[in-house]
Amino acid sequence: MADWEAVIGLEVHAQLDTRSKIFCACATDAAAPPNARTCPVCLGHPGALPVLNRGAVRLAIRAAKALGCDVAATSVFARKNYFYPDLPKGYQISQYEQPLATGGGVDIEPASGPRRIRLIRLHLEEDAGKLVHEGLPSSGKASHVDLNRAGTPLAEIVSEPDLRTAEEAYLYLQRLRTILRWTGVCDGNLEQGSLRCDANVSVRPRGAEAFGVRTELKNLNSFRNVQRAIEYEIARQVGVLESGGRLTQGTALWDADAGVSRPMRGKEEAQDYRYFPEPDLPPLLVDAATEAEASRELPELPAARKARFIAAFGLSPEDAHALTLERPVADFFEAAASAGGNARAAANFAIHDLARVQNAAKLPPDAVPIAASHLASLIGLVDSGAVSTSAARAIFDAMATSGRPPGDLVRDLGLAQISDEEVLKALLAGVVEAYPSEWKRLREGKLQLEEFFVGKVMRASKGSANPAVVRALVEAERAR
Ligand code: ADP
Ligand code: MG
Ligand code: ZN
Repeated sequence: MADWEAVIGLEVHAQLDTRSKIFCACATDAAAPPNARTCPVCLGHPGALPVLNRGAVRLAIRAAKALGCDVAATSVFARKNYFYPDLPKGYQISQYEQPLATGGGVDIEPASGPRRIRLIRLHLEEDAGKLVHEGLPSSGKASHVDLNRAGTPLAEIVSEPDLRTAEEAYLYLQRLRTILRWTGVCDGNLEQGSLRCDANVSVRPRGAEAFGVRTELKNLNSFRNVQRAIEYEIARQVGVLESGGRLTQGTALWDADAGVSRPMRGKEEAQDYRYFPEPDLPPLLVDAATEAEASRELPELPAARKARFIAAFGLSPEDAHALTLERPVADFFEAAASAGGNARAAANFAIHDLARVQNAAKLPPDAVPIAASHLASLIGLVDSGAVSTSAARAIFDAMATSGRPPGDLVRDLGLAQISDEEVLKALLAGVVEAYPSEWKRLREGKLQLEEFFVGKVMRASKGSANPAVVRALVEAERAR
């Protein structure tokens, strides 16, 4: 492998989060009963005319501005002609020679150092329907077509072949997904297909300029599969070349169960699609005011937020990255850190404890079931010594399930930390009485036994004693 370098470019289809389809008024509701969200336009009836959904255009422009693309003043819809049973018109309306946007990029930070992955283009197109091969009484004999998804608005985002490893492809897709979710363009669900990724993969001798012959991998429906499929394909291509074989350009389907890619068909050329301008839609004109408004509407983007978190709160790049994967989590952290003044603690809770709570309740990674003000109060209780860090964890979990403030929970759960020296002295006295020989050896200088007594007092207090105060007490009593 050391002799070879991979070259990877991703084509990502992002479902634009609109209520209705791109060229008709049908709802974008793929879960409705099969074919219940269809009309003459998305069923491809002859003579039915498409009307462009302004909301879809707005979201695509927003995505383009968030990705730093140049938005074209004029873009043109085109027909991409092919036959497939999920495509009732016999063509897909897409943009070809004049896409909505070009240029731009996504910044990633692999271990080898920060890099910008450039984009070729971002264009608008419609989704196809879905073939249903299983689960129906007649499935043994027939496949069925569900056109609820046909006409769903998509933005296709195509990267330059700037990626060099499967890890970089993963980071690129993760960052792109975050930007699309963060700006409300797309909900970014790979498993459910609202974000889909095809990976173009080739290899070349390390140091060579020219690109090798590429395979386009389809069906990468999870982050893990994107990485696995690319790694598999790189190894496969290197294997063929090293054994003196030749590669042919084509499309392959990733089989996640078998962990292999299977060739599907030879690569189509653009001419196979007989692209031509869509006669039923005028060119799409985007004026400067619309573009400026889209820029103004953008929130602070994840990369900027990450940089600010590092500068303002002294976070590590890793923690700042983790806190800017989901916007509600970034908001949660920032509000708690600003209110309480302990950013380190707020980051720990918002990364590790929040993930634990989300996993336990099977919540999505952007769900934050705790008020930031409650987290700030909880951190205040820890910092003042009123609760221990382990009790704080239990209180955090209870806040998530109950929505109640930490003060109430400390009382109800009996989790107040005991810092009162008189109370702790009494506990220590009891422990000393139970372990007289250990105490004698400690007093004679066997200092390792100090932790033994701290632990016993902690246990006697059911974990609620303040360990720092207990340790100080044990030291003082031993030396007396
Ligand atoms: P097509 O539309 O036929 O799929 P494009 O030229 O639009 O072809 O490229 C699609 C994707 O393939 C882009 O992401 C591009 O970066 C990538 N790509 C092009 N050539 C190569 C190559 N030799 N190896 C890997 N990726 C490539
Ligand atoms: Mg392609
Ligand atoms: Zn319709």
